[in-house]
Amino acid sequence: MTAINTSISAGDVSEWTSRADAIRPEGRAFIHGRYLPAASGKTFDCINPATGKTIAQVASCATSDVDAAVKSARKAFDTGTWSQCDPSERRKSLIRLADLIEGAREELALLETLDTGKLLRDSLTLDIPGSADVFRFFGEACDKLLDEAVPAGSEALATITREPVGIVGAVVPWNFPLKMAAWKCAPALAAGNSVILKPAEQSPLTAIRIAALAVEAGIPEGVFNVLPGFGPEVGAPIGLHCDIDCVGFTGSTEIGKRFMTYAGRSNMKRIWLECGGKSAFVVFPDCKDLKAAAQAAAAGIFFNQGEVCSATSRLFVHEDITKELTPLLLEAAMAYQPGNPLDQASGMGAMISEEQTQRVLGYIEKGRGEADILIGGHRILQETGGSFIAPTIFNGVSAQAVIATDEIFGPVLSVIPFKTEAEVVAAANSSIYGLGASVWTNDLDRAIRLSRAMHVGSVSINTVDHVDLRTPFGGVKQSGNGRDLSLHAFDKYCDLKTTWIALQGGPV
Ligand code: ADP
Ligand code: MG
Repeated sequence: MTAINTSISAGDVSEWTSRADAIRPEGRAFIHGRYLPAASGKTFDCINPATGKTIAQVASCATSDVDAAVKSARKAFDTGTWSQCDPSERRKSLIRLADLIEGAREELALLETLDTGKLLRDSLTLDIPGSADVFRFFGEACDKLLDEAVPAGSEALATITREPVGIVGAVVPWNFPLKMAAWKCAPALAAGNSVILKPAEQSPLTAIRIAALAVEAGIPEGVFNVLPGFGPEVGAPIGLHCDIDCVGFTGSTEIGKRFMTYAGRSNMKRIWLECGGKSAFVVFPDCKDLKAAAQAAAAGIFFNQGEVCSATSRLFVHEDITKELTPLLLEAAMAYQPGNPLDQASGMGAMISEEQTQRVLGYIEKGRGEADILIGGHRILQETGGSFIAPTIFNGVSAQAVIATDEIFGPVLSVIPFKTEAEVVAAANSSIYGLGASVWTNDLDRAIRLSRAMHVGSVSINTVDHVDLRTPFGGVKQSGNGRDLSLHAFDKYCDLKTTWIALQGGPV
């Protein structure tokens, strides 16, 4: 992740705690430009996983709410106030939305942290400003992306134009709630689509909050809708709806596959998936700076509690340097001691939920039978009522072990020794996933060879999981198909129209 150079303003733990106590988050759905309860009136508890306490009641939407949102989204699309307007109007609104998100940075960051347990420091400096940047990028781009005219001779004019697909469902996960929402919604909106955003049930608050900002930014009613609720109750009817044209999904491979079946059972809507990962981090003996490699390896698995689809959860270390690298890795891991997410001194936050904590601890128990534990391996801070896991490193793991093949989605690193380049390439590529890879070497030929050989969407050489607005992010194999970010993201939310016009008369 690229660090954004924005310092934390305002306050210490006690000040943030009183702000947290005073906050009253909006929990209603947002349909046709208004906040509304679910049609059923049902709500669910929104829990702060760092304390175990309920922080809001959130609308539990279902099929009838999806139908209402689709009706409004379609009406907006057909009237053309957004879909057919001069794109410079969309540019202005999306940039205004980015400014409004930045203006509400502290409030949104606090909501994000209370909702997910992630560090407030990261919410303030990465998640919220990073989300604003995404709206600004796609806003800026939307009136500069040109269509194509084809060389068709003097007797024809042929053009290829991009058209918005119509209604886009954005179904997103809980690890970077606002950012993932922005990655889907910003290009979809910029292209002129109407959007129905379904945040994860674990983390609905920032998505709900920005709906009001979208109105303030001038996005017309019906163009942007937010439906909180559970996967089977909101995600499935979105996937199955015959008047939704496309779904952008980030989440588990299991549910990604389910969206493909939803499309097949309904209207063959386009499904763009960004799913699981088990990314490799490979360190060769010719790496010039092992300390930097160790620090990057720790960041690659412990950032955001390891709840990152592109987390480099497999650390392949050449056997000649394991003795040297291991103490550096342990030292680097010390910076990730979990603590109160509102405290700037904490190194990691809380896990998203008790359920996810149990899942990760289950993998750790499996790992004990497969490899040696170097540090961690247990939950901590039980007295807080929250769900915290110590940074955990297994050593001497086989590439075929369960902890080295399953996506754990927690702060658990498998260190796997290797001898040869061919062996490590084969092992790295043996995963069902193909999201990212990080390679540490100072041999230019090897770096290029490896980046070509890795069967993944993104390779980071002498850095880790480098994500940038200008470059696509996404995977191959069971990590999914679509690409978020960069100008290529428009491709997912547009159809190409061919227009062939026969001309009479030939040249003048
Ligand atoms: P995780 O298992 O990490 O929570 P999921 O893939 O289950 O990841 O969740 C990603 C998104 O998919 C969330 O918004 C979630 O509500 C949604 N979802 C979960 N189950 C289903 C389902 N059966 N159908 C449609 N959407 C679902
Ligand atoms: Mg799930």
